Amino acid sequence: MMPGMTIGGEAVTALDGFAVINPATEDAVGDAPSCTLAQLDLAFAAAAATQPSWNADEDNRRALLVKLGEAIEAAGDELIELMTVETGKPRELAAIEVLASKLWLDYAAGFEMPRHRLADDAAATIDIRHRAIGVVAAIIPWNFPVVMAVTKLAPALRMGNTVVLKPSPYTPFSSLRVGEIFNELLPPGVVNVVSGGDDLGAAMSAHPVPRKVTFTGSISAGKRVAAAAGADLKRVTLELGGNDAAIVMDDADIPTMAPALLARAFFNTGQACALPKRVYVPSRIYDDVIEALVEAAHALTPRATSGPSAMGPLSTRPQFERVQELVNDAVANGLRPVAGGRPLEGPGFFHEPTILAEGRNGVRIVDEEQFGPALPVLRYDSIDDAVTRANDTMFGLCGSVWGSDLDRAAAVAERLDCGVTYINAHGVHRPNVQLLGVKWSGVGTEHGQEGMLEYTDAQVIYRARQTTDTALT
Ligand code: NAD
Repeated sequence: MMPGMTIGGEAVTALDGFAVINPATEDAVGDAPSCTLAQLDLAFAAAAATQPSWNADEDNRRALLVKLGEAIEAAGDELIELMTVETGKPRELAAIEVLASKLWLDYAAGFEMPRHRLADDAAATIDIRHRAIGVVAAIIPWNFPVVMAVTKLAPALRMGNTVVLKPSPYTPFSSLRVGEIFNELLPPGVVNVVSGGDDLGAAMSAHPVPRKVTFTGSISAGKRVAAAAGADLKRVTLELGGNDAAIVMDDADIPTMAPALLARAFFNTGQACALPKRVYVPSRIYDDVIEALVEAAHALTPRATSGPSAMGPLSTRPQFERVQELVNDAVANGLRPVAGGRPLEGPGFFHEPTILAEGRNGVRIVDEEQFGPALPVLRYDSIDDAVTRANDTMFGLCGSVWGSDLDRAAAVAERLDCGVTYINAHGVHRPNVQLLGVKWSGVGTEHGQEGMLEYTDAQVIYRARQTTDTALT
């Protein structure tokens, strides 16, 4: 029996469902429940009813978050199995989600609420504290269905909020299972997990009960969420698409840099927000870098279900078709496929690890987020030109610089218009380190203290030393 929805502490079925398929085999995984609008109302009502008591006992929340981490770890094999069938990803990648979920829950449990004194003078002591917002609507994509659910639930719960969470319709089951596991330990209504399509997400963003929407997904959907939330002045956190540039410096150690860069670019088959999606390489070392990237790409084995070189399928048919469309467009526009370039024979949505030489800004695969295993490599002659072209986009999630002189690389990294820049790494996340995008890549931040505080409203407490009628003191 596949996992189902959790609403108000109860396992809830639905009259209608939608089919979920395994992208590695195209076999049916099962039918997931389609949450009705009436059920969504019940979920938000349950979350609202229990929020004050959930918020009342901070020690209890912290203790329960530790237990949730233990429960996720204990259910690891089952979650890994669900993730592999609905995303197609190799076992090792699914296992990382379980491990990271535990880390994020432990971080939230251990997080100390900051309380700052802003002033302490003859007139007053002024403190700032943070308190729960209330009910949170959380909407997540299909690329990391377990850890994405947990990285929204853990901070929201820690700060005293209750949640209604919706996974992607492509990968509902592992997130629904997280809801069931949490529900065994939490009071009814604290975590509600519902499943459905994009229209359900739209209904959540526009619903009158939640005071905050936290959304991870595409820029186009993020803009619609922001508009709906804005109409009701809800708080929003938006983690959206990225088209991260990686700049290779002329002093990069090519034999170590190229496989490391490629491993990041094709991590999770290229389906993550913060990965190198276009690479800028000095003309002088261009051919050597291409050769090393091609060698690293050839070492990957699509269709293998486990092992260090295993590369899974694209997780959805539309994404599979989109990657082919972008690669074909690139080739039609003069880019040279020096590795791969084609989809694999079915079944499954597998694509060859693909390197496209002679990339340039203005071609779709360079300008858009490909979200797949196809990497354009561009030449540059001056670092100023590379930085200008890297920044010539409305994306602004992450970026990276690869070189031997770390200070020189760091000086370039600071010039990239993005939320996170890496030197000799890319897309590595920690629970205590912020992840944020600038420009169209996001609003607000996740992770770290700032990410935790996004699940709160600040409150200033002004204590006058004596009653006064002077507005200026
Ligand atoms: P998507 O935007 O199509 O869907 C994401 C979620 O939003 C799904 O649950 C979907 O049902 C829901 N949704 C769709 N339209 C909606 C609407 N109008 N209102 C409310 N909810 C709506 O994205 P996707 O294809 O599932 O995920 C891939 C995208 O996510 C990529 O662009 C990727 O870069 C981005 N992403 C960003 C981050 C980050 O942290 N910045 C992390 C992972 C993925």
